[in-house]
Parts: sequence; structure tokens; C-alpha cells
Amino acid sequence: MLAKLHKPALFILLTILVAFGITAISQVVNIQDLKPFEPPKNEPVIITPGAKVGDPPSDAIVLFDGKDLSGWKSQRDGSEAKWAVKDGYMEVVPRTGGIQTKQEFGDCQLHIEWAAPSVVKGEGQGRGNSGIFLMGHYEIQVLDSFQNKTYFHGQAGSIYKQHAPLVNASRKPGEWQTYDIIFQSPQFDEQGKVTRYARMTAFHNGVLVQNNSQIYGETWHDKPALYMAHPNKGPLALQDHGDLVRFRNIWVRPL
Ligand code: MG
Repeated sequence: MLAKLHKPALFILLTILVAFGITAISQVVNIQDLKPFEPPKNEPVIITPGAKVGDPPSDAIVLFDGKDLSGWKSQRDGSEAKWAVKDGYMEVVPRTGGIQTKQEFGDCQLHIEWAAPSVVKGEGQGRGNSGIFLMGHYEIQVLDSFQNKTYFHGQAGSIYKQHAPLVNASRKPGEWQTYDIIFQSPQFDEQGKVTRYARMTAFHNGVLVQNNSQIYGETWHDKPALYMAHPNKGPLALQDHGDLVRFRNIWVRPL
């Protein structure tokens, strides 16, 4: 086809192609020019990872090691936590209320293991329901979602009433399950207006279920999400929803 073109036309065509090529190359160079970076100056802190995946690394704060609830208190009145501890796990004692850590956290990495009751009772939100509240406000749902239908943003691995999990990675009731969570806390200005949304990335049994999801505000059952200004640290809280849910091996790394 090129052979059929007149020489001046061929010249113009080649000129255009070369010009485009130069522009493309210069754009690549420009992108790099726009983002200069210095190599990191500080060596990353050396820590010792857990002996196996899920074990706390050396810089983690262990919130529950299976022995006692000394790091926890009742959400109702601040008295000692009333949940049962046996055989290396804690278990909800229905109607004693939720419990929360005495220590408070903002941005963090959290590891927590839970198990829904092996005796299946109820359905939907009434089966193996609990919840993990980051900063006491933002819930990732705990629910027996193994062959148990409910609204999608209320099943296990959901950010309650906001985001469904990307997949349902639930194990059978009674089996231990893991959440590994990266949480970014919200920030507020002096008027109490949110200036940075909270975000959550979460793995359920090692599978990504929340991918840097933006949290729209506090997670309520019966009203729309809404941010209400709070301090930049808050407790980790576990919900008493009346079901005999168990928890173990809970540790956090402030970020
Ligand atoms: Mg719940």
C-alpha cells in the first residue's frame, strides 16, 4: 500500500509516525520526571515472625492468648469481662453484653480466630452471630455463613450493612476460622467532619474478602452509616449477639 503513495505523502506519513513515537517516549520520561523518589533511608525494623502463619510476631500486642480476659472489660459498665474462658478460647456468655479491650488502637493489623457453634441453631442473622468492632465502631461481621443465607452485606466477612465480602470463604460451623485485617482509622477536623474515611482490607481464612473498602461510617443495624467524631484511638470490641461464638489467638500490631 505504501508503494502506491506519492513520495510527498509518504514523507508526511513517516514524519507523523516519528513524531508520535517521540511524543510517546517523551511521555514515559515525563511520567518518571513527575514522580521523583529517593531510596528509603531507614532499614525496616527487624522482627521475628510467628513460628507458623497466624502466630503473633514479636512486635504484636497479644490481646488474648487463651488463658484469661485480663486485657478485656465489659462494654456495659467497664467491669470485668463476663465471657467464659476454657481450653484456650473465650466464648460469649449470652446476655452479659459485649466486651472490649482495655487498650485502644487506631490504624492496625489484626489477627483473630473465631468459631460458630457446632450445634446449628436458627437461620440468617440468628445463626452464629457476633461481630468484631474496630475502634468500637466499625464492624466486620462474624456469622455462620456456611450454607446459611442472609443479606449479602450481613454475612461473614462483610463490613456490616455496607460491603458484602468479595467471596464466601466460610468453613463449617464449629471449625476455627481466621480474619486478618488491615484497618485504617478515620480522621476528623475540629468541627467533627470526617477528613479521611476509615478503610478495611480483610482476609477470611486467608482469602481476600475486603479490598481496601471504604467505610461509610459507624455500622448500625437499623440506620444509615454516619461518622461521628471520636478520638484517634479506640478499643477492639466483640459483640454478644446471644450466640455461643468462640474466639482465640487475638493479636494486633499498631501501624
Ligand atoms: Mg454481628
